[in-house]
Amino acid sequence: MLQVCHLYPDLLNLYGDRGNIIAFVQRCRWRNIPVSVRAINLGEPVHFKDYDFVFLGGGSDREQNLIAADLIKRRDEFAAAIEDGLVVLAICGGYQLLGKYYLTLDHQTIPGLDILDFYTRAGNKRMVGNVAVEVNLGGKKFNIAGFENHSGETYLGNIRPLGRVLAGRGNNGVDGLEGARHKNVFCSYLHGPLLPKNAGLADQLIALALARRGMEPELIPLDDRIENSACQVMLDRLRVVKG
Ligand code: GLN
Repeated sequence: MLQVCHLYPDLLNLYGDRGNIIAFVQRCRWRNIPVSVRAINLGEPVHFKDYDFVFLGGGSDREQNLIAADLIKRRDEFAAAIEDGLVVLAICGGYQLLGKYYLTLDHQTIPGLDILDFYTRAGNKRMVGNVAVEVNLGGKKFNIAGFENHSGETYLGNIRPLGRVLAGRGNNGVDGLEGARHKNVFCSYLHGPLLPKNAGLADQLIALALARRGMEPELIPLDDRIENSACQVMLDRLRVVKG
């Protein structure tokens, strides 16, 4: 049984981010992979070592602050589970939380969980619109699409990006990088939500979670015509080929 943890669904759920949980779970069920989801809200205990997949969506700066104060109490357990190969998807505000800090426009430094090596500073201009990103996952290169809406500009330290921006802004609109990757952690600015439109990425996460449990990571192919065409529509508008 794959155990899924949806962190702070009430506070971190911008632009349909919950759809990432729905896609992960449904793609497991279509393959008869048993899966169970637990929502964790502010103040509730969470034991990261019990989970196979943890999801954090996006939120405003205000929500990020509330959550940082709560999550910091479980920071070491979260970091240890990540080092042990826990599969994590963190979007936008959730992504920013995993880094060192968030520097606001009025020069306040809000500490992050400091699990991953990057920092974020608020910019004057919001980065809003559709994004296409080239990723290289599981030995395959392909393009993913999503929607970004953030003013935070993220700069990576000693950590890989999720991919290379083909259209849109990504981490900061300057260095051409999007998201971050460490072990089985995938961070991205792409809402959309991300997984329903990018079935290849969803299956990567499922395969990694299964492999970590010692279960067969070989996934039965699904009929992804609808998912692929949803992605293709976005890529077409951005004039990017699916790859
Ligand atoms: N508060 C962050 C920003 O604007 C995150 C926003 C979001 O999650 N969409 O950069």
